[in-house]
Amino acid sequence: MNRDKIRVTVWNEFIHEREDERVAAIYPKGIHGAIAEYLSQKPNIEVKTATLDEPQHGLTDEVLRNTDVLIWWGHAAHDKVSDEVVERVYNRIMCDGMGLIVLHSAHYSKIFRKLMGTSCSLRWREDGEKERLWVVSPGHPIAEGIGDYFEIEKTEMYGEFFDIPNPDELVFISWFKGGEVFRSGCCFYRGRGKIFYFRPGHETYPIYHNEKVLLVIENAVRWAAPIKRPKTLTIPRAVHVEPLEP
Ligand code: ZN
Repeated sequence: MNRDKIRVTVWNEFIHEREDERVAAIYPKGIHGAIAEYLSQKPNIEVKTATLDEPQHGLTDEVLRNTDVLIWWGHAAHDKVSDEVVERVYNRIMCDGMGLIVLHSAHYSKIFRKLMGTSCSLRWREDGEKERLWVVSPGHPIAEGIGDYFEIEKTEMYGEFFDIPNPDELVFISWFKGGEVFRSGCCFYRGRGKIFYFRPGHETYPIYHNEKVLLVIENAVRWAAPIKRPKTLTIPRAVHVEPLEP
């Protein structure tokens, strides 16, 4: 294994694609399969997938230890994700600096809510509306290769107020034809880890076949990958220390 490669695990609850023909037609290999297929063609990225039904949801200690960036898609089964696995993912982010990319309806996932500490609620409407995503941090690595904005012709609307803490960096703001706006590309630093929330991705539209959407995910993988630093192994605690100078 080449350690210079970013090791990505794409996690999907993988329910809609098996239960809804419309979704299966768009994602015959699942949403995780579509994202993994794209990323695996990109330089210096190594990709695996994991799903809810696998033992420990496919996120064993061993898998997480060998994951630099975890991508998370969930919608119908947030409550089926075990607290033990959530705790393991959380510790890997906080202590080891594993990156996390939270997609679309995973705003309500246990791991995202735990990291945010807020309800993560929002307004929504499934109406096939047009979305225009404006780049509001043009120097940010996640915006590389994206112009002033990009558009998604038909999507589900998410609108403010999005109940998250103020992002540490905001990369995209969406406008929707119905009039709402939304902070749709949000960066957070938690412990040693980096987290990117990215809004696009409703399962009944071919969002993860959109080249710009996929490029943003690739950019986010590179941004969220851990930097090389000693690991802490446990969540940092307050420690009493002696002065460095005598
Ligand atoms: Zn949705």
